Amino acid sequence: MVKCSGCSEDAVINVTSPYCKGHFIKYFEAKVAETIKGYKLISKNDKTIIACSGGKDSTTVLYLLNKWFGNVTALAIDEGIPGYRNVTLEDLRNFCSRNRIPLKVVSYKDAFGFSLHEALRKVKVLPCNICGTLRRHLLNTGARGFTKIATGHNLDDEAQSIMMNFFKGNFEIAARLGPLTGIASDSKFTPRVKPLYFCHEKEVAAYAFLMSFGIRFNECPHSRVSFRAAVRDFLNRLEQQKPGSKQNVVENFLKLLPLLKKKHSGSAVMRHCESCGEPSSNEVCKACSYVASLRSVAAPVAKF
Ligand code: SF4
Repeated sequence: MVKCSGCSEDAVINVTSPYCKGHFIKYFEAKVAETIKGYKLISKNDKTIIACSGGKDSTTVLYLLNKWFGNVTALAIDEGIPGYRNVTLEDLRNFCSRNRIPLKVVSYKDAFGFSLHEALRKVKVLPCNICGTLRRHLLNTGARGFTKIATGHNLDDEAQSIMMNFFKGNFEIAARLGPLTGIASDSKFTPRVKPLYFCHEKEVAAYAFLMSFGIRFNECPHSRVSFRAAVRDFLNRLEQQKPGSKQNVVENFLKLLPLLKKKHSGSAVMRHCESCGEPSSNEVCKACSYVASLRSVAAPVAKF
């Protein structure tokens, strides 16, 4: 049996070194704390809301920010994905109730008048294309009054986002990536921070498992047909052949990021959507455009 690099206990995981449970938890928490401190993601004066799905990543962020800063709120978006979101929301409700963390749930049905499931029964589109836009919209409006939105994005997610934008030539969007996101400042735009930026997905999964958060490790049924899934599988294969590839993608991107930000600063100057008043680079934001076209085919009219 391999021994922990920090003591004589048996190792339970081998990441950069073999660790027992106690030393792995210390290693992981130190890595997240260093990211928060090094990139000045959150300060004691921040009022932070955590975008939660009920999965391992956002629950880990919720747990750690509550432990270190207190006074946090969880924000969940209920898209209406039967067999998936109802399960993760149940886990999140239980977690928040056990840890006395306030939880705010905003649903597509209430906000737009249709659930994602209802919309997809009427129109043939890639689910993540519309869902990602509508989720971001509700996260931004749901976070009003808070100074930061913390998300559960990990190193694997970030490597995928970087490659997706590079494959598509979306350098302006790539300039908005990084541990602290957004290149435009607007009083209606809440900055987003990613405390798990340098944590591999398998490290987060091990931490959530060892901490017994009481969550089920579910995956959205639509994620398999997304472009992200294709890039994820590609990066996973590459990582197997050449370990360290994902970390290299992220670290080398961070060297490029100041140049991208400089080149695109100003090109993302925000106006406000004529329909909903939210920050937008067009007259009508993407969320309102989707909602208008989906409402016409998907469901009864509702408030928005
Ligand atoms: Fe929405 Fe796609 Fe995420 Fe599922 S995987 S919750 S459809 S963005």
